[in-house]
Amino acid sequence: MLPSSELPIPTGGQRTISPYYIEKSSFQLFSVKKKKKKEAMAAVSAFTLLRRNRGISTRAFSNVKSSPRPISYINYKFLLSIQSRRSLFRTTVINDEEASAQEAAASAESGAPTIFDKIIAKEIPSSIVYEDDRVLAFRDVNPQAPVHVLVVPKFRDGLTQLGKAERRHREILGELLYAAKIVAEKEGILDGFRVVINNGPSACQSVYHLHLHVLGGRQMKWPPG
Ligand code: 5GP
Repeated sequence: MLPSSELPIPTGGQRTISPYYIEKSSFQLFSVKKKKKKEAMAAVSAFTLLRRNRGISTRAFSNVKSSPRPISYINYKFLLSIQSRRSLFRTTVINDEEASAQEAAASAESGAPTIFDKIIAKEIPSSIVYEDDRVLAFRDVNPQAPVHVLVVPKFRDGLTQLGKAERRHREILGELLYAAKIVAEKEGILDGFRVVINNGPSACQSVYHLHLHVLGGRQMKWPPG
């Protein structure tokens, strides 16, 4: 029997594994073994629990193990290997975000135009939700919720991040917040939405042109990650 670390990976290297692919493969593996249907169902439901809450996954496995027809040891090991690979995948993604945030911070005060300057100048396309003479709101290219809109000042004026705000910025800061409310109204999420400003590398800020994230259209969780 192979140790979990040596079990075959469905696709290429660690970074190309899609959690969806792993879930699908595990389901197929179990569903082809018709005579072990009972075991398969127990395993899939244990895995579903594992997906939703790591805290209860151990309990789910204990229950399966102590049932009259326990899940076979190889399937148990296979599920554990999936769990550890999913953790690895999450860790890689998180580290990538943190690394690019550190990199962006290093050139934050260079004064160089950011990607948002190009969007404001309409040099690169974006899906604009709201615009006036001082503020632009456009959809995030990598949405974290059904509604995810970025609200930015058209003129950066030293506002690379909120932490650089000065008294003279109070008016534009108010306008940005008011624009966030207009966006929420236009997007039909006034009953529940979140406004986020990531400030600096430890908050994973990646673009050094002040921007508000307006998020909504799903149930938000607290505390945020
Ligand atoms: P931050 O991480 O700095 O708080 O947020 C920057 C946001 O800008 C990210 O959510 C990222 O997806 C978004 N973003 C980066 N480049 C582009 C782009 O070219 N177009 C759009 N629409 N959003 C972008």
